[in-house]
Amino acid sequence: MVTKSVKLGLQHVQDIAPYIGGRPISEVAREYGLDESKIVKLASNENPLGMPQSAIDAMSRVASDLGRYPDSNGFELKEVLSNRLGIPSDWITLGNGSNDILELAARAVAQAGDTIIFSKHAFAVYSLATQAVGAQALEVIPTADYGHDLTAMLAAVKNTESSGKSKVKLVFIANPNNPTGSYLSAAAIETFLSTIPSHVVVVLDEAYNEYLSPEQRYNAIEWVKRFPNLLVSRSFSKAYGLAGLRIGYGVAQPELTDLLNRIRQPFNVNSLAQAAAIAALQDTQFLQRGYDLNCAGYAQLTTAFTELNLPFLPSAGNFVLVRVGDDEGAGARVNLALVKRGIIVRPVGNYGLPQWLRISIGLPEENAIFIAALRDIL
Ligand SMILES: *Cc1c(COP(=O)(O)O)cnc(C)c1O
Repeated sequence: MVTKSVKLGLQHVQDIAPYIGGRPISEVAREYGLDESKIVKLASNENPLGMPQSAIDAMSRVASDLGRYPDSNGFELKEVLSNRLGIPSDWITLGNGSNDILELAARAVAQAGDTIIFSKHAFAVYSLATQAVGAQALEVIPTADYGHDLTAMLAAVKNTESSGKSKVKLVFIANPNNPTGSYLSAAAIETFLSTIPSHVVVVLDEAYNEYLSPEQRYNAIEWVKRFPNLLVSRSFSKAYGLAGLRIGYGVAQPELTDLLNRIRQPFNVNSLAQAAAIAALQDTQFLQRGYDLNCAGYAQLTTAFTELNLPFLPSAGNFVLVRVGDDEGAGARVNLALVKRGIIVRPVGNYGLPQWLRISIGLPEENAIFIAALRDIL
């Protein structure tokens, strides 16, 4: 191999720390000589029920047509969404996962020299999307309970703009947030939207929206009607059980939606994903089963954490952040011990939380295997 001394590519791309996902089951099985079928993966907030059967059936119906390109405009899926959400189809952008929407938002509104604001301990993709366009990331210190501090975020917008050095183009907010599970009330978000300057685009990431309890629920689409600078993103990867298909969507008024559509790949959402999403959206039974399972699993995990005297953060999502020790090596150490037993969870040192582990809520028996192993390790 010939090594070159010249550096290829842009500095801001070289500076990106690649995304670290949950480890694939096959990889862990290979590395530790484990039986794949015995591995428990609670690392990527996937739906433990897997895919809905309705989606599998819908995909088999379109499978014979995969020689053709997908519908570039996702007409049918947008129709279903438009009826469901009570908005016109041209307010919807489909994405190759909602990650695609987050990235499109950054690319559509920000460039080198601009500032993008999000909370510390927020979803890692915000920082990746920011760096990819060469913009400056401003991480705002969270509240004492690790949630987004919207007041501090508003102050950060104001301070940055009044310094005259950079323009704030975008703010990412996740509700609930991953990996902390923290939740913002509708009132807090509404105040934020009414106060933030209208030239700043706000992305409200609702990847876990379907897991909110009835008391926590709110309708962000009503805000989209009032605020032209708001983009709400949603995912089919979590509650709808379609993570492997890569599909999500964004809702915004036509001006912002049109921008996203100009820069997306023409065929960014494949035919199988479109068909599966239509079926999953209408499968209210599957959604309810997943919700109930999640409530039971949350109780199961947090009861065990309490018994083990482990602090955890109350979560509005399908995962729980638990503190497994006081030293900076705790998360990595307990994680390794779990992996060796075939249990994959998510260390969050890269989120600045080295004492913690994020546990996706699984099936009752998966949660039980994890709890038993954790008890044993500690
Ligand atoms: C999982 C997740 C997403 C989206 O994932 P996609 O699979 O790309 O739809 C978006 N935001 C947050 C906060 C997430 O945790």
